[in-house]
Amino acid sequence: MTIGILGGGQLGYMLALAGYPLGLHFRFLDPSPEAPVGRIAQRVTADFSDQAALEKFSSGLELVTYEFENVPVEAAEFLAARVPVYPPPVALETAQDRLKEKQLFQKLGIATTEFAPVSKPNELDAAVKKIGLPAVLKTCRMGYDGKGQWILRTAEDVAKAKSELPAVPLILERFVPFARELSILAVRSSDGETAIYPLVENHHRGGILRLSLAPAPRLEPPIQRAAENAARQVLESLKYVGVLAIEFFEHDGRLLANEMAPRVHNSGHWTIEGAVTSQFENHLRAVLGLPLGSTGPAGHCAMLNLIGELPESAEVFAVPDTHLHLYGKSPRPGRKLGHVTLRAASPERLALRLSELPAFFHRPDFCLDSALTHSASLRA
Ligand code: AMP
Repeated sequence: MTIGILGGGQLGYMLALAGYPLGLHFRFLDPSPEAPVGRIAQRVTADFSDQAALEKFSSGLELVTYEFENVPVEAAEFLAARVPVYPPPVALETAQDRLKEKQLFQKLGIATTEFAPVSKPNELDAAVKKIGLPAVLKTCRMGYDGKGQWILRTAEDVAKAKSELPAVPLILERFVPFARELSILAVRSSDGETAIYPLVENHHRGGILRLSLAPAPRLEPPIQRAAENAARQVLESLKYVGVLAIEFFEHDGRLLANEMAPRVHNSGHWTIEGAVTSQFENHLRAVLGLPLGSTGPAGHCAMLNLIGELPESAEVFAVPDTHLHLYGKSPRPGRKLGHVTLRAASPERLALRLSELPAFFHRPDFCLDSALTHSASLRA
């Protein structure tokens, strides 16, 4: 049985690694001849808009899924006319547009920060008047890892942004002085069974995820319940199949939904060692209509992204309870090259192991020291 995957980055790589023990084969489509999955599976190198390549790609596949959320919706729909495509293309369409995404949250009664559309630069002043400052201006589409965003604190920032704005639809959001960022991973199978992982605490630098703590330290049951309710609403309303991630801000004791990703997610990498069933295996079980596996945690985890450069493997493994994942990409600044997961029996043991990591991990961009202080204060 061969599963087709659109996108051939590390998420696809880990999906395939989870699928081999289930007897599955994989075929990937990615425009880059460097896509890391080429090391471990069939890779078709073609543009997502190349219909002849899509046609050939789909031949003999059981189903198609994706690991990259900016796959053109037209490509997903073209394939959906030939073979089942999960999650449904409507989920892709919603998640690709920050305005549609926030409007869906609003329609489902899921709290968000206040927002207003800015379809042309001359609408910015009215939006600022409505939302207030400080605010965050974002392109509706193609923004990820903090790209395409401007923080507006003063009238001068607004004037400057107006002079620089790209001629694309934008959204203005009220800036949230959040206590922390959390995300939830939920999964729904093609026969409607759902399962939800515990909330994860995420630390970003420059808009890129650097560190996740899972389950999130000092997790109040009402906060977990609110996140689960939000996830269930989205899963049901989109008749979703597969893993879905929703990112939240925790602010004033409540959750505000920021965005969703219709795929396995970086903040779920801890589940490989830290949950009974990984997000990758559960995504595959979901799209195949197999019973889902337990999403229960198997300890306390930290996941650190390796961005731009790699530590010495021996130095990582010198610390007990560490696991190293390398994606087979050549190092380049800002590139996600791998991750390290630590799993321990208690939060105290996890903090000890984190403090034992080599100096490479104690630079400010790993967020380790701030996370340890933050978690300790949250636990106090
Ligand atoms: P996003 O691309 O929406 O995930 O934004 C990237 C990062 O920018 C988030 O993880 C937050 O740290 C920050 N951010 C985005 N939107 C807001 C907001 N409305 N208020 C405060 N910080 C934000």
